[in-house]
Amino acid sequence: MLYDCIIVGGGIAGLQAAIQLGRYEHKVLVLDAADGRSAICRSYRNVLGWPKGVDGQELRRTGRLQAERLGIQFMEMEAERAYQTEKGFLLSVKNGEGVTFSAKRLLLATGVKDRIPGFEELRPCMGKSVFICPDCDGYEARGERTLIIGSGKAGVNMALTLLYWTRDLIYIEHEPGGIGASELSRLEEHGISYIGQPVSRTIVEDTSIKGVVLMDGQQIESRKAFLAFGGNEVRSGLAVQLGAAVSENGHIEVDPRSKQTSVPYLWAAGDVTVHSEQLAIAMGDGSQAAIWIHKSLL
Ligand SMILES: Cc1cc2nc3c(=O)[nH]c(=O)nc-3n(C[C@H](O)[C@H](O)[C@H](O)COP(=O)(O)OP(=O)(O)OC[C@H]3O[C@@H](n4cnc5c(N)ncnc54)[C@H](O)[C@@H]3O)c2cc1C
Repeated sequence: MLYDCIIVGGGIAGLQAAIQLGRYEHKVLVLDAADGRSAICRSYRNVLGWPKGVDGQELRRTGRLQAERLGIQFMEMEAERAYQTEKGFLLSVKNGEGVTFSAKRLLLATGVKDRIPGFEELRPCMGKSVFICPDCDGYEARGERTLIIGSGKAGVNMALTLLYWTRDLIYIEHEPGGIGASELSRLEEHGISYIGQPVSRTIVEDTSIKGVVLMDGQQIESRKAFLAFGGNEVRSGLAVQLGAAVSENGHIEVDPRSKQTSVPYLWAAGDVTVHSEQLAIAMGDGSQAAIWIHKSLL
């Protein structure tokens, strides 16, 4: 079947685009690898209409239902390769044994994958007591002791940013990242404690972090933590395969009005684009891309 549009990524931007395209009654397939940021974040608290927060998994579940009611098809698959054809685009999927999907238009809403080495036990805490984004959740740490668990300059920058909300900060450089004397003196200057040794285990109750135990047995109590390891993966590989322009750090460049990339009929939306990495913005991007995809199909 030739779809009007394939959306790669069923996170926030992809789902919002799917809902919008469904309301034009276009034939749309969403290919989703079912991971990504919205699958990790258990509470978004800066979103209009959800003063007590909303779970990313719940948003994804209800968003998918809403799109399915509009006739959108979903498949849990990872798109691996993309090709341009006379009619539009052809996609092959991982472990797909030759299965391909074709569409007149392609929207990439593949997001960013945060590098979090280990710490599986912190999953239920993500967005509740353990965070990654100061713009989203710095507010949750205001006035409280807060750990930064990370590596190198990413952790230093996170600690310095969090000074806006709290002065009680401890940077645990869990993974050696080669920070030097100048970074250490900046931390000291701002009263940020620095510990250069790995976390042996975290102390977690339900969705709350209570603290960590370091390799030397020292226990540090804290009810808030930020992870900052750097090296996040911008999932723009399919755009690169198709020859679309990407920025130095891998984000897909799009037209600000239409969200179309430098390749005709190829769109991108959400965190994978040059973007503020926020839920509301990803949603807006998805909607905007869908409107312009619709116009291009007329
Ligand atoms: C812990 C945490 C807390 C956060 N807190 C906040 C907050 O409080 N407020 C806020 O505004 N934002 C917050 N964010 C950021 C927010 O989650 C993102 O901005 C938002 O999820 C971006 O949506 P997206 O659709 O671009 O990407 P995602 O939600 O990451 O969705 C991308 C989707 O694409 C899929 N995908 C990727 N590659 C492929 C492929 N090749 N084939 C098929 N599928 C693929 C993934 O599986 C995923 O489902 C937080 C993020 C995290 C991790």
